[in-house]
Amino acid sequence: AHASQTALASTAAERPKRILRNFIGGKFIDGGTPFDIFDPATGSVHATAYEADRAIVDEAVRAARKAVEGEWGNMTLAKRRALLTRVADRIEERFDEFLEAEIADTGKPHDLAHHLDIPRGAANFRVFADAIANLSTETFEMDTPDGGKALNYAVRKPLGVVGVISPWNLPLLLMTWKVAPALACGNAVIVKPSEETPSTTTLLGEVMAEVGMPDGVFNVIHGFGPDSAGEFLTSHPGVRAITFTGETRTGSAIMKAAAPTVKALSFELGGKNAAIVFADADMDAAVAGLARAAFLNTGQVCLAPERIYVERPVLDRFVAGMKEKAEALLPGLPNDPGVTLGPVISEEHRGKVLGYYQLAVEEGATVITGGGIPDLAGDAAGGYFVQPTIWTGLPHEARVCREEIFGPACAIIPFDTEEEAVRMANDSEYGLASSIWTTNLSRAHRVGKAMEVGISWVNCWFLRDLRTPFGGAKMSGVGREGGEHSINFYSEPTNICIKL
Ligand code: NAD
Repeated sequence: AHASQTALASTAAERPKRILRNFIGGKFIDGGTPFDIFDPATGSVHATAYEADRAIVDEAVRAARKAVEGEWGNMTLAKRRALLTRVADRIEERFDEFLEAEIADTGKPHDLAHHLDIPRGAANFRVFADAIANLSTETFEMDTPDGGKALNYAVRKPLGVVGVISPWNLPLLLMTWKVAPALACGNAVIVKPSEETPSTTTLLGEVMAEVGMPDGVFNVIHGFGPDSAGEFLTSHPGVRAITFTGETRTGSAIMKAAAPTVKALSFELGGKNAAIVFADADMDAAVAGLARAAFLNTGQVCLAPERIYVERPVLDRFVAGMKEKAEALLPGLPNDPGVTLGPVISEEHRGKVLGYYQLAVEEGATVITGGGIPDLAGDAAGGYFVQPTIWTGLPHEARVCREEIFGPACAIIPFDTEEEAVRMANDSEYGLASSIWTTNLSRAHRVGKAMEVGISWVNCWFLRDLRTPFGGAKMSGVGREGGEHSINFYSEPTNICIKL
């Protein structure tokens, strides 16, 4: 067993390779098969993680089960809430280490991780420590057939052992978004972070031990999907629920693996999000908002608009504005001054994104900007960078307008009527998010409601009170999380009826 996983030096170059072990029953354990973790900004290996085999996953399930049946399951709500708050405090105290780990795994610009990923990781624990403070349940005093009374009420209980499977784009943020409510409800979790970005999840294991979280409440298993830790977790009979964020195809495979043991499932999946810009919109705000939306995190945000429908009279102005914003982005190393665009996550993913850049041209696109690899010198020359890219002239039916690219690219398509815009926006197997730009309030509501999505933004993007429901319609998800929607998923009622 190892007390600490990370020895951190002041610069990445001095830092020894991170060793990322499986965290089970409150300890980092030996075992598993080593695999490399790459820094996408330079293409170099910066860490080694240990893939959990079936026996290690079994051990994690046993440890989690023991926690639920022991101290954790019997802990007072006040103490559980205090521990979750301590986790948030400790993430903030070790902010720089989380920041460095997240940047090393993802290559994202320093300011982005500093302002978004790490603070939201801590905030998720505070939000759900609060969310369970005032849990209420329904109680009815009912009349019985014999003229007496009965008291009928429900109590909410944890599900037991919950498997959390997270993606690589916002690793700490999306993982804690599920871990925090699961723990708040009294479950024990086994987290399988993305094989590309396991560092901050491993660091959270250290934090859990430091704050005195009972052993087995939070476990981490490393590895891949099929025939690896992911599949061993989703098919395990000792796991009651799987909460997953990732690709739609993976969600489908997990559903299948979880079917024989009828697990509860919550899925946040892929998208091919549409934005609609009406001629009456504040055009500067629309350009600034949608350029940010399309290119933030190098377009690797499930909510990013990859199809932007623009009312014809403002098309040229909008395209020119977007081009200017895209060309103002500065690709480079995360800590270099002024850098605003990181790499994509891997060589493989870059191949996929560049494949779409090629396909767009074959499908008849006019490339307004980008379309290739930026010319970078020094360490960044080995990184997985692509140019932010804008296309016009593509038919709405083109493959690049239907398939999720998950890179910094968008197609801009004109429309003439509101009805046409709504029809094209909804013509997708996905239904995650939309972003509508207009100054007409009635239209904002009408179009917002007509969108077949989990969230419709109006004159904004990525803004949300964490108590509201979040999730996807159609093939973009199953269920909703956020506030009491999360509590409802991570707990289940036992209905008790007492004849008085
Ligand atoms: P992915 O589906 O490839 O991987 C996600 C996780 O699932 C990883 O931990 C992976 O190891 C695991 N996995 C893969 N196959 C598995 C299997 N058969 N069984 C069990 N686990 C398996 O997704 P990704 O590439 O990491 O993330 C990008 C995708 O995530 C995009 O499609 C994006 O739209 C989506 N996403 C959705 C949301 C949302 O809230 N809806 C948020 C972020 C990302």
